[in-house]
Amino acid sequence: MAKKVIVIGGGIAGLTSAVRLQYDGYDVTLYEQLDRLGGKMNRITGKGFTFDLGPTIVMMPHIYHEVLSYTGVDPKDYIDFMALDPMYQITFADGEKLDATTDLNRMMVDLEARGEGTADGFLRYLNDTYAKYIVAKDHFIEKSFRSWRDFYNPTTLWNALKLKTFDSAHHTIAKYIKDQKIQNMLSFQTLYIGISPHKGPSIYTIIPMIETLYGVHYARGGGMYAYVEALERRFRELGGTVELNSPVEEVLFEKQKAIGVKLKGQDIMADAVVVNADFPRAMNTLIKDPKVKGKYTEEKIAKMAYSCSVFLIYIGLDKKVPDLRVHNLYFGSDFEDNLSDIFSGSIPKDPAYYIYSPSRIDDTVAPEGHEGIYVLVPVPELKTGTFEWTDEVKQSFKEKIYSKMKKNPGMEDFDQHIVFEKLMTPPDFSEKMGVHYGATFGLAPTLLQSNYFRPKNVHPYGKNLYFAGSSVHPGAGVPIAITSGKLVHRELKKDVPLNS
Ligand SMILES: Cc1cc2nc3c(=O)[nH]c(=O)nc-3n(C[C@H](O)[C@H](O)[C@H](O)COP(=O)(O)OP(=O)(O)OC[C@H]3O[C@@H](n4cnc5c(N)ncnc54)[C@H](O)[C@@H]3O)c2cc1C
Repeated sequence: MAKKVIVIGGGIAGLTSAVRLQYDGYDVTLYEQLDRLGGKMNRITGKGFTFDLGPTIVMMPHIYHEVLSYTGVDPKDYIDFMALDPMYQITFADGEKLDATTDLNRMMVDLEARGEGTADGFLRYLNDTYAKYIVAKDHFIEKSFRSWRDFYNPTTLWNALKLKTFDSAHHTIAKYIKDQKIQNMLSFQTLYIGISPHKGPSIYTIIPMIETLYGVHYARGGGMYAYVEALERRFRELGGTVELNSPVEEVLFEKQKAIGVKLKGQDIMADAVVVNADFPRAMNTLIKDPKVKGKYTEEKIAKMAYSCSVFLIYIGLDKKVPDLRVHNLYFGSDFEDNLSDIFSGSIPKDPAYYIYSPSRIDDTVAPEGHEGIYVLVPVPELKTGTFEWTDEVKQSFKEKIYSKMKKNPGMEDFDQHIVFEKLMTPPDFSEKMGVHYGATFGLAPTLLQSNYFRPKNVHPYGKNLYFAGSSVHPGAGVPIAITSGKLVHRELKKDVPLNS
């Protein structure tokens, strides 16, 4: 009899671990509480428009491909990524625009035009950061820290020192580049994982280097969700079972060993359980045995540091906006003040925001002559937030963003052309998806919540219990969550071998 594995949650980390385990011969059942797989990597549809709900930027497509190629198929038969150039356009508060491109020559010319030494600083930054990336990848990201020996050993400690991660991302970039706009352009990416560039460890300066090296890609035929569809297809082909609308109530244990789950009042047995539900929420709700909770009591979970959240608007327009690129970032007048609002819990006064408009290049996501626009604004998570997301607050914040958007060329009257509109707020993430405090990027990757110190893939206080997802090691972002699924797969195979 094949060993039975239950995966709780069909987010990207749960789904990728399920695909790998099913391919190896485990009998995997994936329970998802929503009516669709994908978790935050979901889809919203209406009036002929198709929007990605959460992630939009594909970085490191080889990591996406690897899950499929592991199962013996050509990933290109399942998903079709195209590189975007420019990767994105940045608009500063004074209206100045700058394209981020993988064309290094063009990037050098644009940077040097801003002042002597800027291009050289960028090259030195790329060079030094690449070296850090290789160390981080080989010694931290792709390693599951099962015991203290995996961290407290001379090789790992030496490599940790090489990462020089005690500095902040913004301060590190400032050592290479004097131009403040370019400093912001190379450090705002820590917001991709929900932390401030002024607080986030310097290791996250690797993100713009990774963009430059591997490019930013788009999944043809619907955007990010096309990848969820590809994985679901492969999982079902391999014989995996998907149960939608199935909220797991509890993980069952016998002498601290996971033996199954409780769902709709019934006990369902398994040899191992993989939890993809957000770690802090799962600890508070799914793990009831205090011995299995270990140090993760409700008090500890409440004290942990959380990433920021996001306010999202999905807009369908009955006209095109030719000036938009697929990815567009707009800074407010004072980025530092904006960050201070987000991370001190205030509603941002003059927020930076991001617009994603895939209908520029993909005619499957909007009716002809129409434009689908996704607007993302970083906001505080619910623990730090000092205000409630009442209907009035949502409407007035939306109007604030709209008045900023109307200043962009070609968007002066966009609000007269809205034929579809939907909002997604931090409480929606908390209530609908079980994202603790609505912190959309999970537990914050502070130094004390990273690597060995982050909740582990192999649970230290219970047997045959595994965690995959953005609040556990290695962290948030689709490629990193995919890696978390890979680490769970690797460790589970060691502990619960197929032929035991
Ligand atoms: C707005 C936004 C934009 C982003 N942009 C990017 C981007 O451009 N690029 C990028 O790489 N990353 C981006 N990210 C981050 C990325 O989306 C996440 O890190 C990643 O999708 C997290 O996947 P996950 O598997 O950890 O969890 P989730 O996606 O949260 O999945 C967890 C799943 O578990 C289910 N679940 C919870 N409890 C239960 C239960 N009791 N029973 C059954 N099911 C349950 C949930 O419904 C959910 O489906 C973005 C995130 C957001 C929110």
